[in-house]
Amino acid sequence: MFVDVLRRALELVSECACANEVGCPCCTQHTHCGEYNAVLNKDGAKMVLEAVLHAEKEKNEKNHPGVMPEKRCRLVKKMHC
Ligand SMILES: [Zn+2]
Repeated sequence: MFVDVLRRALELVSECACANEVGCPCCTQHTHCGEYNAVLNKDGAKMVLEAVLHAEKEKNEKNHPGVMPEKRCRLVKKMHC
């Protein structure tokens, strides 16, 4: 689930049509940000999301070598049925 959230966030930031460097309320900004969205960077957000996704993928491969995440889900579901 965490990976799904990361993937969706990366899609959102990558596909947003805004053209400015800091992003916009649709992709990087938050209306309740205590720092007034002062230090945002759209490319930086993409880099962080990609790095965390890569780390998650490596962690999953290390813990379950040779098993694809989708297949693991099916195996877990079978075990609980
Ligand atoms: Zn945007």
